[in-house]
Amino acid sequence: MKKFRIGIWDHCRYVTNFLKPYDEMARHLERMRKWGVTLTDIYLVEVISLDDYCRAAANCGMEVEARITPAWSSPAIVNRTLPETEWQRMEKSLGIRLAGPCGNREDNRDLFLAAAEKLAQEFKGRIASLHLDFIRNDNALTLLDFPCQCDCCRALNKRFFGTEILSPEMRKDPAVLCKLAALRCKNIRKTVEGMRTIADANSLRLTIAARANYVNSADITVPPVWGLGPAVLEGQDWAEWADDGLIDELFPMNYHTELELFESVLKDHLRLLGKKAWTMLFPGVGVQSSMGENSPEAVAERLQMLKNANLPGAMLFNKSNIYDERFCQVIKAYCGE
Ligand SMILES: [Zn+2]
Repeated sequence: MKKFRIGIWDHCRYVTNFLKPYDEMARHLERMRKWGVTLTDIYLVEVISLDDYCRAAANCGMEVEARITPAWSSPAIVNRTLPETEWQRMEKSLGIRLAGPCGNREDNRDLFLAAAEKLAQEFKGRIASLHLDFIRNDNALTLLDFPCQCDCCRALNKRFFGTEILSPEMRKDPAVLCKLAALRCKNIRKTVEGMRTIADANSLRLTIAARANYVNSADITVPPVWGLGPAVLEGQDWAEWADDGLIDELFPMNYHTELELFESVLKDHLRLLGKKAWTMLFPGVGVQSSMGENSPEAVAERLQMLKNANLPGAMLFNKSNIYDERFCQVIKAYCGE
């Protein structure tokens, strides 16, 4: 049987002793390794101690990916900026104020790359990969109606559209939308290119958590899921990054609980990546996520589908981080040589 790698996204949410987290980390990772998980992707915002985590993983033969986001890199990161009246309008129409980092800003990029480089140098040899999460702008649905108005975005608007603030009519103009998306893609790509250089210099792989909806895939566009993309509208042109060798592995967050949706999105990814899928596509499968829950049987069904497509593995997302034995049995049945 061909090797099938099963990895997990982890947040250390099972740790209760924050002063001495090692034992709980080791217990969790040993258990998951025993069931066949060989890669853990740790969210650095919540890791408590990456040093302890790496030791615990190394002791049981688990590979570690360091999952980083622009927001993780520095408190000085500038988020989407809007006047208070626009925030109120967003809250009224969408029920939320969504203010992730602005991907158009060079200062944000410099902070993120500097933090990643420091991490890569310090943990070289202890981590296997840098994993980029939120390598995009805020949710596409909210970007359409509420584009960022930070000083950098206003300067771009001024240059390309002749006005700092886009009117509602301009926000519907296809040419304006096309240029806005192109600017976002160009600026996020520069960040990925910088990460590629850092990864290469430190013998690390570069992987990303990708939007499942690349451009026109099946999607859920109502609250509280807030849509899965489209990635390209948020500046995350992962198909192009894959073509150009900027990333080594791609983990699209295909957490759909309806099998038909999962399959349709998967088919889009296979079409987009072609033969590259066989080496770099590790779809994210939801156990528990904002999109709902999949039963052990549902997870097994999805893993089978990935194996049938000749893919090299999968990543499991479970927001509680705790896998009961029924899920572990599924992992055991699908992982390995
Ligand atoms: Zn901005």
